[in-house]
Amino acid sequence: MSKAPRNKRLAAVAFACALSLALLLSVSASARPGGGNSYSGGSHSGSGSGGGDGGDAAGLIFQLVLLCIQYPAIGVPLLILVIAFFVAKAAVSAARKNWSTTTPEAVQAVQRVERSALLSRSELDQIRTLDPGFSLVLFEDFAYMLYAAVQRSRATGTQALAAYLAPNLAQALVDPQLADVQGIVIGAMRYVRFSGLQGPMLELEIELESNYAEVLRAGGTRRFYAVDRIVLTRAQTARSRPLTRAHTLDCPNCGAPLEAVRGSECSYCRQNVGFGRFDWMIAGFSNQSREARGPLLTSDVPETGTELPTIVEPGAPARFEELTRKDPALTWQALQGRVALVFGELQVAWSSRDALRIRPFVSDNLFQSMYYWIDLYTRARCRNVTENATIMRVDLANVLSDAYFDAITLRVFATSIDYTVSDEGKLLSGNRSRPRTYSEYWTLIRGTTRRGEPRRDNNCPHCGAPLRIAMTGQCEYCRVKITSGDFDWVLSRIEQDESYGG
Ligand SMILES: [Zn+2]
Ligand SMILES: [Zn+2]
Repeated sequence: MSKAPRNKRLAAVAFACALSLALLLSVSASARPGGGNSYSGGSHSGSGSGGGDGGDAAGLIFQLVLLCIQYPAIGVPLLILVIAFFVAKAAVSAARKNWSTTTPEAVQAVQRVERSALLSRSELDQIRTLDPGFSLVLFEDFAYMLYAAVQRSRATGTQALAAYLAPNLAQALVDPQLADVQGIVIGAMRYVRFSGLQGPMLELEIELESNYAEVLRAGGTRRFYAVDRIVLTRAQTARSRPLTRAHTLDCPNCGAPLEAVRGSECSYCRQNVGFGRFDWMIAGFSNQSREARGPLLTSDVPETGTELPTIVEPGAPARFEELTRKDPALTWQALQGRVALVFGELQVAWSSRDALRIRPFVSDNLFQSMYYWIDLYTRARCRNVTENATIMRVDLANVLSDAYFDAITLRVFATSIDYTVSDEGKLLSGNRSRPRTYSEYWTLIRGTTRRGEPRRDNNCPHCGAPLRIAMTGQCEYCRVKITSGDFDWVLSRIEQDESYGG
């Protein structure tokens, strides 16, 4: 049996693999797939800096828009001047940054924000004091969706995203050499900076690790592992969209299709829907580093951070008790039973490259990421095998509840034998006999109105039939989507020790 596809391993593996499809046998990297160091397959952490000067710009422009409304005679000319300035500035910096002309050989050191500088999710949870409908779970889905859309728009054009992009970025991001950006997989997301609860604009900087392929107009495809930072800004007066629209990019005000938004004005509701007035807008986008390579599938990365103390949010134990009062069937023991089931299924799915097996237990985003790595292994004709995987201990780290979801973060300590083997049976990396000990932060989510004991068996939490789940997360018997957390706890995030900030 196998051990949990840990994100790191996943990441590492995937990265390794992508590149390795070409280089597999020639690169004798030493990094355990997913082992130890995160999505990059064991790069270097450092104090990333910068990012987000566009955030200030967005705030300024928003203020100017207000000025235009109150004192048009002053505001309008000033706004035009300022926009012209930022457009010019963006053009210059785009030329300087030279996104797409990086040669495949060019490798920049990968810099990630240090763990000590990370922001706890609990700080963001304060947004609910302004906006009771704010959900971190849905926000993270949204951030993933928007980031992927922006990456694609670098090739296909940013017009359709005008409502979600600062004007200066809309111009600067597009790269005329690109025909497409594909296979965008986000391996990790971290919170760097948050401000603005006192208004008028909330501003949030996040860091994303991703893997994507650029298809060049001139022909050819290049795969990158990148660390990007984006600054998201939203008016303090804006309110979160309803759950039904949480997974669609549409008019931030009325929900009309994006095609209805021309520039930043919606032709349906006739509102200017840009500038973060109604929803989060990307005000800054900076590439911290990227490496022209794919995942290192067959390398050994040392485990880091396992010995660090668990980051426990001070209010977490009390909030967990609150959950158990709300639903007495939810006990610590029952939850651990669920974790053990998911952990075991994850090992089997990962080691046997059977992504569907883990589908019932993970959220859409996590499944997408796992599917990607498993697919890379399959194409590289190798498997990362985990055997004798055992959970040693589980710590409670955090509990957050919002209007739609309860989210419980646990630190899972486990041990397993971990090695990568070719389809021909040749050992490529790892050790077939010596177990590895590691820890990861797992976040499980469940719909906030749901009650009942967490399932520990392989039956559909809706109809009770033996689990057969389609890629999309629907039960093949009752056709109900069971992976959104509406019915039982599903795993929505796996974060490595060095990436988890609370
Ligand atoms: Zn509209
Ligand atoms: Zn069912």
